[in-house]
Amino acid sequence: MKVLQVSAEIFPLLKTGGLADIAGALPAALNTAGCDVRVLLPGFAPILADLQSASVVAELTAPWGERVQLRHGTLGTLGVQAYVIDAPHLYVRPGTPYEDEQRQPHHDNHLRFALLGWVAAQLACGLDAHWQPAVVHSHDWHAALTSAYLAFGPARGRRVASVFTVHNLAYQGVFAPIHFYDLGLPAHAFSVNGVEFHGQFSFMKAGLYYADHITTVSPTYAHEIQTPEQGCGLDGLLRARGHDLTGILNAVDEAVWNPATDAAIPHTFDAQNPAGKARCKAALQQELGLDVKADAPLFGVVSRLTEQKGLHLVLAVLDQLLARGGQLVVLGNGDAALEAAFKARAVANPQAVSVRIGYDEAYAHRIFAASDVTLVPSRFEPCGLTQMYGLKYGSLPLVHRVGGLADTVVDCALEHLADGTANGFVFNVFTPLALERAMYRALALYARPTEWLGVRQRAMRQALGWDKAAAQYVALYRHLVV
Ligand code: ADP
Repeated sequence: MKVLQVSAEIFPLLKTGGLADIAGALPAALNTAGCDVRVLLPGFAPILADLQSASVVAELTAPWGERVQLRHGTLGTLGVQAYVIDAPHLYVRPGTPYEDEQRQPHHDNHLRFALLGWVAAQLACGLDAHWQPAVVHSHDWHAALTSAYLAFGPARGRRVASVFTVHNLAYQGVFAPIHFYDLGLPAHAFSVNGVEFHGQFSFMKAGLYYADHITTVSPTYAHEIQTPEQGCGLDGLLRARGHDLTGILNAVDEAVWNPATDAAIPHTFDAQNPAGKARCKAALQQELGLDVKADAPLFGVVSRLTEQKGLHLVLAVLDQLLARGGQLVVLGNGDAALEAAFKARAVANPQAVSVRIGYDEAYAHRIFAASDVTLVPSRFEPCGLTQMYGLKYGSLPLVHRVGGLADTVVDCALEHLADGTANGFVFNVFTPLALERAMYRALALYARPTEWLGVRQRAMRQALGWDKAAAQYVALYRHLVV
């Protein structure tokens, strides 16, 4: 089955969060499961630079009159066949894919990402005579207009199924209504039964409304987004589409995240031979100027520093952690106030707290490899990847029971220790006190090395690879194309 994956990011070429990890891993997983996958990406500089043996598929005029080229080739680092939209005036500029250097959204984001969906729909409708997908699978708001353009596009050839995956409902791509009229969609689509959202124009709503099927990245989040508390104003539509909504849990790309083979960590290890983990811990403590103590429980955070991630709870309990001999290593960036608060704690406790503001892929690997506990106290979490990386690297996750965190982490309560399902620490209520209690459970287990090592070994052996999720996506595609 031919499947076109559409996303704004792809690991390792361009990543701002978990979306890129998924977009980078899914094509290979689906190909292994028998699909013929190609990806469609905006021509950001690192993506264009990686495109090999490229040829021009078409010269296109976007609905607002802009001339662009569509190239096809192979992404050298991934070995994946890719279509790339070559439009340097839209995609090659300073800042992140979404924001300028002042952290403001690029002024023409509606055009930049409408183009992605519009080109996807052209490909679905047979733009490339050599390859037409049976399924177009778009990810997050950046690619969400795909299904709207498909709904109103020319019905050439056979019908193509559309799947839209929500990686985070909180980021919706909402624009002033004036921008809707630039994009070549029919005027009647700007209605409550369409792309209109409280008088604005919403990419996310277009995806939710027009896709044949919606998926999101964990079963629990699929339920949560149908509630007013977590539906971000779209819960009514999501409930109405409840029969076309599936939660498929994300997975770990074991070619990238595997402590037995990881070139980014100083000592490799696995569940059977964990000695390298202790060496990784000592090396990181040394590197960061922390007290080099094998028995100091080392807590790690690798995260965007945003309100979503619940890290103010960590600040609230940090003194208690330090008072019990714990250490904290943080890698992240985002909210300026959170950055400053964490940095201040590192300055005050240099022997026990290290904070690096920034984005550093290799350093993230070293933190998972070195730490004993991975903290993910998110207020909400569609799936979360870092708790799964923690499991793989024997850094037991401590999480808020929400979204994909609830689907992947089982608390070390006595009954779960007894039945062998425990793999981390879970708190139910989003308060410092609840996190503090979970932290004490972690410290109590850590003080019992035999039990700790047993839980850690089972966590590291857990099957977290992509085969299960890929099979679920393939079953869904098959269901949609018959
Ligand atoms: P989200 O997509 O909401 O940011 P996820 O847990 O799904 O959260 O994915 C986050 C991804 O980004 C993981 O691969 C994590 O390791 C990575 N990451 C987050 N912050 C950083 C950082 N500062 N440096 C390196 N990697 C980071």
